[in-house]
Amino acid sequence: MTKRDYYEVLGVNKNAADTEIKKAYRQMALKYHPDKNPGDKEAEEKFKEAAEAYEVLSNAEKRQRYNQFGHRGVGGNGFGSGGMNMEDIFSHFGDIFGEGSPFESFFGGASRGGRKVNRGTNLRIKVKLTLEEIASGVEKKLKVSKQVKCSSCQGSGAEGGGAYHRCNTCAGTGQVHRVTNTFIGQMRTSAACPTCHGEGQVIENKCKKCHGSGVERGEEIISVNIPAGVGEGMQLTVSGKGNAGERGGIPGDLFILIEEEKHPHLQRDGNHLLYDLYINFADAALGTNVEIPTIDGKAKIKIDAGTQGGKVLRLKGKGLPSVQSYGKGDLLVNINVWTPQHLSADEKKLLDKLRTSPNFQPNPGKGEKSFYDKMREFFHS
Ligand SMILES: [Zn+2]
Ligand SMILES: [Zn+2]
Repeated sequence: MTKRDYYEVLGVNKNAADTEIKKAYRQMALKYHPDKNPGDKEAEEKFKEAAEAYEVLSNAEKRQRYNQFGHRGVGGNGFGSGGMNMEDIFSHFGDIFGEGSPFESFFGGASRGGRKVNRGTNLRIKVKLTLEEIASGVEKKLKVSKQVKCSSCQGSGAEGGGAYHRCNTCAGTGQVHRVTNTFIGQMRTSAACPTCHGEGQVIENKCKKCHGSGVERGEEIISVNIPAGVGEGMQLTVSGKGNAGERGGIPGDLFILIEEEKHPHLQRDGNHLLYDLYINFADAALGTNVEIPTIDGKAKIKIDAGTQGGKVLRLKGKGLPSVQSYGKGDLLVNINVWTPQHLSADEKKLLDKLRTSPNFQPNPGKGEKSFYDKMREFFHS
């Protein structure tokens, strides 16, 4: 299923301010909240769709990448998991509705509003791609060394998956309140509970393997679909594949930094590819067919009789696909005519005879584009 445009999902325009986006999302979340629409699959989908749109558009960096590359730039279509689960969505509600969210009952008895949810840190890894892989897009299986859920306690931090109990200090809210008297009257401040560090619950017996953190060092094989047309320095996001969060928290994101391997023959210029072709003087004068490398195998091209050095052939659509759109770049072949540097006595004699022939005298301007026109044509068209 193709994804809808995030701006369209939230019903805001592309230049919408952050406050507008937040307001639009708040309205959508209220309207489609599962509490209000029990058993309504369509409402649930709308609810998730809005949360995903908000997740991207409320983050300046993600929003910019989305504007530039569309869903593919932010882990949407065909790239990583993309979608959000309910846990992620509700964890952000504190920011949207503030404390005293209208949906506290939904969070399963104890309020989650003020409680801290541990979030794992983001990870960044580099991926080296050949030009061929960039041309076609590629699925990469990446072995990522990272914080994973503790295998002994399944991430809970409690020995043998054992019991948690409600924190006595904060009565499970994760917050402690202090009332101080100041000259303008009483001031009520709240802070994360020092006993449970804001989590609202404490572990009875800490897991011996992870000492109660619920995480350990490990490895994960993550399969990533890299879209065609990416380039050096581009960064892709796989949401939820970063470090695991402590004690069953939310994992961070995995950022994939693209590096481009040098191709032995072809050079890249945006979506165009460039190839420097050398032909000998006789081939240039008599015409010939030559084989050249392209991104998907060899191709034969025809060199017309009388071809001048410096002529550029343009092979339409033989370049790289664009990551944002459906277009493809071209392959530009620059023809160099090789002047022999070592000649036998016989060869010298032959050439000496031709030296004064009228046909050998330079006669530019007839059907030959000037250097300036060529540059304008190839770099500004
Ligand atoms: Zn453990
Ligand atoms: Zn506490």
